[in-house]
Amino acid sequence: MMDLHHWIDGAFVPASKGGWIPVTEPATGKTFARCAAGTSSDIECAVQSARSAFPAWSQTTTAERVALLERFAALIDDHCDELAMLESQDGGKPIARAQSVEIPRVAENLRFFASALRHEHNDAFTSAPDVLHWTHRRPRGVAGCISPWNLPLYLLSWKVAPALAAGCTVVAKPSEVTPATATRFAELSGEAGFPSGVLNIVHGLGSEAGSALVQHPDVPTISFTGGTATGRDIAVSCAKQFKRTSLELGGKNPFVVFADADLDRAASEAARAAFSNTGQICLCGSRILVESSVLPQFQEKLLAATAAMRVGDPADTTTHIGSMVSEPHYLKVKHAIESAPGTVLCGGGRPSDLPDRCREGWFLEPTILTDLPESCALEREETFGPVASLRAFSDESDALRLANATPYGLAASVWTKDLDRAHRLAQRVEAGVIWINAWMVRDLRTPFGGAKQSGLGREGGIESVHFFQEPAGVTLRLGDPS
Ligand code: NDP
Repeated sequence: MMDLHHWIDGAFVPASKGGWIPVTEPATGKTFARCAAGTSSDIECAVQSARSAFPAWSQTTTAERVALLERFAALIDDHCDELAMLESQDGGKPIARAQSVEIPRVAENLRFFASALRHEHNDAFTSAPDVLHWTHRRPRGVAGCISPWNLPLYLLSWKVAPALAAGCTVVAKPSEVTPATATRFAELSGEAGFPSGVLNIVHGLGSEAGSALVQHPDVPTISFTGGTATGRDIAVSCAKQFKRTSLELGGKNPFVVFADADLDRAASEAARAAFSNTGQICLCGSRILVESSVLPQFQEKLLAATAAMRVGDPADTTTHIGSMVSEPHYLKVKHAIESAPGTVLCGGGRPSDLPDRCREGWFLEPTILTDLPESCALEREETFGPVASLRAFSDESDALRLANATPYGLAASVWTKDLDRAHRLAQRVEAGVIWINAWMVRDLRTPFGGAKQSGLGREGGIESVHFFQEPAGVTLRLGDPS
């Protein structure tokens, strides 16, 4: 049984009120750890530690911050296997995915923002021979970073790295469902040499620790990734104090396949888009829209690609789809499938061939439904599980109408060989991230974020660093040169 403490002022500390939250391995249903149940007094301690560390940290040179971020990245690489094992254990994700995608991306996030900082430049203007204007960017103080359970360390580091690069100190609140890697991440930050108080991690429930962080008057900047309903509450809370807020929220993303597309590639990517990480990625393509003339052949290919995905023990390196993250989430997704008024093309239940170790785990087969009414919950609301719908469209305008028919606007994937059509749709699909003949191909320099109810603001590139800084326009008039 592991004890996962808060990391405050460069040391592990228990919850001030002594409470614990059990941490369960979802693939087995067994509790393997407990994390500190943070309260507002723990947040208070962490914020005071971050405040005390801020003056010195904000005055460090670019070279010092870059060196620390790069050392931290190297330590993540050195501990990749251990972190991947923890990430797989508390999230139910396939170990191969954690090892080859998610933990390497944590190191990449740290290196990327070290490099962004090294190449940062500011504008300067001369409005008259003796008048110079430039932008001075100062770090905004203590940053609050709140992250979800689906890509725990990947998303936490995507916030923490730019905040530290910007010269802010951080109080982070990971999801209490998957707290293990954040704890190790904190410890490794100490080994990398970050001064005490620069990075603090407080575990606990969103309704308690998360909410106390959002409401704390000494935390002027909140970066949040999570569900749309939580994001709305946080936006309201932050507005009262005019906090700067970035909200990366839910999605119900269309995967649109035209008749002229490479149907083999589109079908295998559609299965990957729907079921990667058990469908628990905000970018998953959960609404598969196919031009009616090719629907039968596409459906056959999609079902074959889905059948080839092995559901199994996340600790097995050949597993493609692990368990759902938790029992409540499993029950929610199962209910969404069972109450959907459509035809199940594949899946819908619990896999029958799980190993003994996983008998009590929360597994669901990859599920595809069709014949759903456009207005039903499964077509409009985020399910966040291994469930996709398949629907025909008649032509480009019908495809566009369906693609935009939800309150979300996070991502879209469009498959066509017609370049004109690709351009038209890239301009008209209401989404913050649009892939043409691709899914989940990312370049960290490009803006990332959602339209409509999928969020506010953009992360990525130098914008992520600037989010944590306050720009000031400075004007200098030279003295009389004579
Ligand atoms: P939640 O919104 O439930 O929680 C996200 C984080 O916020 C958790 O750490 C949570 O703590 C915390 N939290 C909950 N309530 C509050 C509150 N009132 N004040 C402050 N913090 C709070 O999301 P999930 O963890 O369920 O994650 C899944 C969601 O995240 C999906 O909707 C998914 O689409 C979205 N997501 C969006 C991404 C994007 O980039 N747009 C990327 C990845 C996921 P606790 O765990 O204790 O509830």
